[in-house]
Amino acid sequence: NLPGKVALITGSTSGIGLSVAKKLASQGVHIGLNGFAKPEEVVAIRKEIENQFKVKTFYHGADLKEAPQVKSMVQETSQALGSVDILVNNAGIQYIESAVNFPEQKFNEIIAINLTAAFLTTKYALPKMLNQNWGRIINIASVHGLVASVNKCAYVAAKHGIVGLTKATALEVAKTGVTINAVCPGWVMTKLIETQIQQRADQYKISFEEAQIKLLEEKQPSVTPVQTEQLGDLITFLCSNSASQIKGSTYTMDGGWTAQ
Ligand code: NAD
Repeated sequence: NLPGKVALITGSTSGIGLSVAKKLASQGVHIGLNGFAKPEEVVAIRKEIENQFKVKTFYHGADLKEAPQVKSMVQETSQALGSVDILVNNAGIQYIESAVNFPEQKFNEIIAINLTAAFLTTKYALPKMLNQNWGRIINIASVHGLVASVNKCAYVAAKHGIVGLTKATALEVAKTGVTINAVCPGWVMTKLIETQIQQRADQYKISFEEAQIKLLEEKQPSVTPVQTEQLGDLITFLCSNSASQIKGSTYTMDGGWTAQ
């Protein structure tokens, strides 16, 4: 059911978002990209996807902190590619600090990018999906949408928020052909966690590899990071017709993190 459909994936210039974009493109889905990157990087990503998978691409550089830019991104992607049938709210940032010392501006920024932007894209993409009685919205939450860790108050609040947003919006459209679900990954090997591993390596004066094991051991029983491609497969399944009765669910892929 996927060839010819259009997906808008926020934060798709790297990590999980880019991998999901490639996976959906491999199924014949046209791809709306978003995220920060140098112009030449965007050109390279678009060329690679277009040439390898013979689909159309569009890029919108919206800063998701800015509501008017989020609205333009949805409208312009829909104009350029004909529709937005699949929306993957993926962009997210992290900041690690105790609540007492957490910069207020940073807290608001994390809520804006990791939560409010997903509300806005949903608000603007949903009417057309309802009109055609088919759509898929997949919110990339995190295990931190289900459980907490210390020094991540903004991230944990935003991710719990996006799980709530997923359930609430899924119920509103439950009788239609639109499904809204969340995916909750544990540690996934991307830039976002590379930074955290490097900080640990520097702090404890150990190698990157040792720091990675230490980080994973604390929370992820498999001691193995999730691969971005595995998340791409899960998201592709959630877009399929087989998943039409999965509504308002949270799918963990976390090496056992939340089973403990
Ligand atoms: P990443 O840093 O590799 O990618 C983040 C993407 O978001 C990039 O394309 C970046 O340009 C974009 N972005 C950041 N701020 C933006 C803004 N203001 N406007 C537009 N785009 C912006 O990170 P990732 O690990 O691929 O994370 C993707 C999502 O997965 C995030 O929501 C993250 O919270 C979630 N997640 C990641 C992990 C992990 O271990 N890596 C675990 C659980 C959940």
